[in-house]
Amino acid sequence: MKYLNGKYRVESVDIGRISKKFGTPAYIYSYEVIKNNINKFKKNFKNINPLICFSIKSNSNFNIIKIMNSFKIGADVVSLGELKLALKAGINPEKIVFSGVGKKREEIEYAIRKKILLINAESENEVIEIENIARKLNKKVKIGLRLNPDTDARTLKYISTGKKENKFGVSLGVFLRIINKFRNSRYLNIVCLSVHIGSQITSHKPYEKMIKIVQATINRCKYNFEYIDLGGGMGIRYGNEKEINYKKYLNLIINFLKNKKSKIIFEPGRSLIGNAGLLISKIIYIKDAGTKKFVILDTGMNDLIRPALYNAKHKIIPYKRSNKSTNKKHEFVGPICETTDSFGVLKKFQKLKQGDILIIKDVGAYGKVLSSNYNLRPLGPEILVKKSKYKIIKRRQKISDLI
Ligand SMILES: *Cc1c(COP(=O)(O)O)cnc(C)c1O
Repeated sequence: MKYLNGKYRVESVDIGRISKKFGTPAYIYSYEVIKNNINKFKKNFKNINPLICFSIKSNSNFNIIKIMNSFKIGADVVSLGELKLALKAGINPEKIVFSGVGKKREEIEYAIRKKILLINAESENEVIEIENIARKLNKKVKIGLRLNPDTDARTLKYISTGKKENKFGVSLGVFLRIINKFRNSRYLNIVCLSVHIGSQITSHKPYEKMIKIVQATINRCKYNFEYIDLGGGMGIRYGNEKEINYKKYLNLIINFLKNKKSKIIFEPGRSLIGNAGLLISKIIYIKDAGTKKFVILDTGMNDLIRPALYNAKHKIIPYKRSNKSTNKKHEFVGPICETTDSFGVLKKFQKLKQGDILIIKDVGAYGKVLSSNYNLRPLGPEILVKKSKYKIIKRRQKISDLI
C-alpha cells in the first residue's frame, strides 16, 4: 500500500476507484499484505515448527479465513459462531482450538462432536462441565487448561488478559489442583497448557516472564503437556511503537523446549491481519471551532470502535496527497452522537475540503468485527484487493436490513 503520483493505492488499485464504485465508508484489505504477514510469521518461528491458529475474533470475514486456510493456518475460536465459520471455511478440525471463559454446553458439545484439536478450559467448573458432556457422549476429550500467569503484558489496560485481576485462565494454585484432580479422568485428557497475556505487545520481555511462569508451573505439576499454547498478542506498528524482537522471543521458546517434546501453538490475530486493512471515509463537513477544526467523517465509532473503546491511535492519511498544509489543530470525528466518537487530534494536516477521501490505517484487526449498528447506521462493505483485481467480500448493509 503506497502513494503513486500522489494517490494512495492498495496493490495496483487506486483507492479513488474503490470509493467511487462502492461508496464510503468501506473496509479494504490487501491479499498481498496478508500473505506477507503469514510468511513472515512462519519464517520467524520456522525453527520450532509451531501450529499457527489464527485468532478469528480479530477478523471473522469468511474470505479472510479462507485465505488463512489456503496457507494452512488453523483457527483459534471463541464462540460457536466462529467455530462454525472456521469449519465452513475448510479449516481442518485438527487445527482448531477453542478459547473463552464462558463456553456454553451446546458450544462444548458441538466442539467435541466435530473433534477439534483442543478445548482450552478457563475454570475448574468448565473442566467439570466438559467432563460431564464427554461422559454423556462417551468420548475421551482432549483439553487444554489456561493458566493465568499474573504477568503484566505492558499493553493498554483494556487489552491485558494475563494479570490475576483479569477474568482469564486459572491461578497457579487452581491449575495444580485441576491437574491432580483430573489426571486420571476417563473422559478428559489434559494435553495442553495454554496462556495468552494480552494484545498489542511490543516487547519480548512480558513473554519472557510468561514463559518463566509456564516453566515453573510445569515443574510444580510434574506433568508432560503434548502442547504448549502460547497464545497471540504480538503487536504491530500503528505509530512509532517497536515491534517485538521475534528472534529473542524464538530463543526464549527454544530454551524452554529443551528436554521437552511439546508442540508449540500460537494464536496470532492482529499480527497477521492488522496492517492489511484500511477504512476509507469521506469528509462530510469541516467545522471551524476557533482553536481547532472538526473534520466530520462519514465513518465513526460504529465502524471502528478501537479509538473510542480503548483510546487506540490509528494513522489517518489523505487519499490524495498535496503539499498545502495548515497549522490548525484537526480533530477527526464521526457522525455518531457520542463525544468519544473521535479518531484523534492532529496538530497539523494538509489542507482539506468537503468530499475529500481519508484513509484510516491498520484496521484489519478488531475493526469490522467490533462494529455495530449504533445510531442505526448500516455498515459499509468489505473489499479484498489482489493485484489489480478487487471484489466485495461483505456487502454493504441496507437500512431495510436493520428495520
Ligand atoms: C484475542 C486472543 C488472541 C489473539 O490476540 P492478538 O493480540 O490479536 O494476537 C489469541 N488468543 C486468545 C485466547 C485471545 O483471546
